[in-house]
Amino acid sequence: MNIELPGLFDLQVNGFAGVDFNAPDLTSDRAAESLDRMRATGVTRCLPTLITSPFEQFAASARLLAGMPHPSIAGIHMEGPYISPEDGARGAHPRAHVTPASRDDFNRRQDAAGGRIVLVTLAPEVPGAIALIEHLVATGVRVAIGHTAATPPQLAAAIAAGATLATHLGNGCPQMLPRHPNVIWELLAADAVFASVIVDGHHLPPATAKAIVRAKGAAKTILVTDAIAAAGCAPGRYTIGGVDCDLGADGRVSLPGTPYLAGSSLTLDRAIANTVRFTGLSIDEVIPMASTIPASYIGATTAGTVIADWDPKGGELQIHRVTS
Ligand SMILES: [Zn+2]
Repeated sequence: MNIELPGLFDLQVNGFAGVDFNAPDLTSDRAAESLDRMRATGVTRCLPTLITSPFEQFAASARLLAGMPHPSIAGIHMEGPYISPEDGARGAHPRAHVTPASRDDFNRRQDAAGGRIVLVTLAPEVPGAIALIEHLVATGVRVAIGHTAATPPQLAAAIAAGATLATHLGNGCPQMLPRHPNVIWELLAADAVFASVIVDGHHLPPATAKAIVRAKGAAKTILVTDAIAAAGCAPGRYTIGGVDCDLGADGRVSLPGTPYLAGSSLTLDRAIANTVRFTGLSIDEVIPMASTIPASYIGATTAGTVIADWDPKGGELQIHRVTS
């Protein structure tokens, strides 16, 4: 069945097609080539995502990406460094560069990015986080809660201060949680909060993805890839911001020798197909989660049109053409 969809919009992508947006040796040519190749997966706009790193490295990457005229770049997502230092909650972010939240530190990063940081993921329990959320919201930057082991009152304080998104809900939290209350239930139940999810079948088992999407509702769910350089590549070893990750033959990306996932090799067209298969929602209900909902969440619009073939029986989405 031939379908037309709006250009897809990925709020969280660390790299693609062998290029790591966090790499110290990133060049604008390599980044542009990566973004051009991402278009074949239907993504016409995205937020290149910079994870926890030393300030100088962050500033160099932000300066480079922010200075690129590439039409796919809708802003920068800064994920960390104001996150939980704990194993599990921290995920693949290097502990050595996790720091307390501060307005001064953020302003230096935003200056380096030429004002193009539009989304910040942080942990509410980090010292200074609540005051920083208020500052970010006042300056028009969206705030997401993620990589956190926050208590329910800490989460409530962050939401009251203006946080409106749960970053990759169900991941970036402790491996072991009390059955309730816990960070997942609290963020699921918070009506003011959107949830982004990585529906690759590895980050969330199908039943968990289904339960999260159904509970949050189609209008408050955002599909992201959280892809790293390995996306669109053969199995092997890759890096994200200098941290090694292994891409297995099953598409799983993990920190070598640990159970911890380190980003994905997911593409957004496959995330749509997986979400239809896992949740029982229709393709028409799922497409906005990867296009108009993330775009309007950050106050932007989608770009272009994607012509694709959808096989409802097999649950396969095949992109044919992307127009600008
Ligand atoms: Zn993350």
